[in-house]
Amino acid sequence: MRFIFIVPFLLSLVPAFAQQSWPEDLIIAPEKSNYVKTSTHAEVMDFIKAIQSKSENAFVFTMGVSKEGKEIPVVVLSNTKIKTPAEAKASGKPVVYIQGNIHAGEVEGKEVVMLLMREILLGDKKHLLDNQIILFAPIYNTDSNDKMEKGRRPSQEDSPLEVGLRENSQGLDLNRDGMKMEAIETQALFASVLLPWDPQVFVDLHTTNGTWHAYSLTWAPGYQSSGHPATYNFVNNKMLPEITSTVKSKYDLNFGPFGDYYLREGWPPKNFYTYNHHPRYLVNQFGLRNRLSILSEAFAHERFYQRIHSTYRFVSEILEYTNTHASDIITVNKTAEAETIAEMKAGAGSLKKGVRFKMAPLKKLDNFITYDYIQKQKADGTTENVRTGKVAQYKDVTYHARFEPTLEATVPSGYIIPARFSKLADNLRLHGIKVETLTKSTTLKGEVFQIEKFEKAKQAFQGHAMAQADGKFVSATKKFSKGDFKVEIAQPLANLIFYLLEPQSDDGLLTWNFLDEYLETLKVENKPVEYPVFKYMNKTN
Ligand SMILES: [Zn+2]
Repeated sequence: MRFIFIVPFLLSLVPAFAQQSWPEDLIIAPEKSNYVKTSTHAEVMDFIKAIQSKSENAFVFTMGVSKEGKEIPVVVLSNTKIKTPAEAKASGKPVVYIQGNIHAGEVEGKEVVMLLMREILLGDKKHLLDNQIILFAPIYNTDSNDKMEKGRRPSQEDSPLEVGLRENSQGLDLNRDGMKMEAIETQALFASVLLPWDPQVFVDLHTTNGTWHAYSLTWAPGYQSSGHPATYNFVNNKMLPEITSTVKSKYDLNFGPFGDYYLREGWPPKNFYTYNHHPRYLVNQFGLRNRLSILSEAFAHERFYQRIHSTYRFVSEILEYTNTHASDIITVNKTAEAETIAEMKAGAGSLKKGVRFKMAPLKKLDNFITYDYIQKQKADGTTENVRTGKVAQYKDVTYHARFEPTLEATVPSGYIIPARFSKLADNLRLHGIKVETLTKSTTLKGEVFQIEKFEKAKQAFQGHAMAQADGKFVSATKKFSKGDFKVEIAQPLANLIFYLLEPQSDDGLLTWNFLDEYLETLKVENKPVEYPVFKYMNKTN
């Protein structure tokens, strides 16, 4: 009798202890180095070559080539091998795009994507391809990955020992480039992935920069600003809370919403602030494009292997969720897109949307966990905050993660860009926006914006002295010529068009100096200058 009872018990333990063995070429650099090293670009390419040779379900393409000539690989995982966007579309399954290493010092995403390729293609996660197509880009910022040095990210405490640079080799932060699109990588991402493959979900993998909260991983949805709220609501109110409780119950990991607090505001913390709403951040831009998006931020102060663990669990639970909610996801995005177009059609000439925003309180965090601080009395009588090793839980922490418009503008039926400003039309096309060219001269009713004040930031940001225009809209009827560009607002990327072209937008093409030359020549300081992009209204109120 004893024997009979013991055997099933032992058997039930077997799967938990079953050891997976992998060939040498599928073992990643951190695993080989006891987590001292992160993978180089060449090692990532070798891994991809190896996995491609061992699996029927992987197709590899190059997103683009970096300034220094390094290929940016994308691996398509699907359970009947899909090689083209047309095949993906015909399958009816959503495409999920997951990207690592946008900031090449934040490296665990790159490693996790490789681990997941191994598990999904050859291990025990094959079911994740039942209802979706996965696109993995492990090493988006290729050039800077290999410029490894110690001390690059002080908050990461040299774990791994050396990591690459944040900016790309043009000196640009790839996560501030979503609107101006100056980086080779951004243009490649849009041209080779976002526009042809049309991912329904985007996950961008990062590491935090400093705040000693006590969450192993923090997340944020794409912030909407003037966009349709459905994608934000789905990610922020349903998907991420559910995944957060799953990782807590399955792996005892603490995940929570992304943010920072500031010790200068006193202790214990009263406020926790998310990042900005601007669509220059790729995750936010996805929101304006009516698609789901997730920012993942592993906790910088945990060791490299722990950050790999939490990011791995996060991404695999996201993929479990998207696999079981594939049709819901398609519906949410499709509805957001259809409602955006309908809203623009109905609202042109009267509907107002935000063009500048400020951060506002969203809710109270009642079980906020953080490393605790105490005050140290110094010899000169002053005090300073020192962090203890104790994790404390605080109530009544206000989470600032809502964005309120501080300035609004009226949605037009569309915009006319005079032919000489073709730079603007080129940028819109890079975003996937439909731009027509007038085939004959046309007279249109609408509004022009009179710029009364044009200011530029004294401090450069991303190589730009960012611009801001203020003034007023006045009704006008204007004649346009053959060759001028027409951008109708009633199209899927309506909210993005509005944010790019509105003269007072806080992240538009004017902000990024696309019109400096013109405006500076006309000297706004002497008399008001007309913003050259015209807003036409098919019906005026
Ligand atoms: Zn980052």
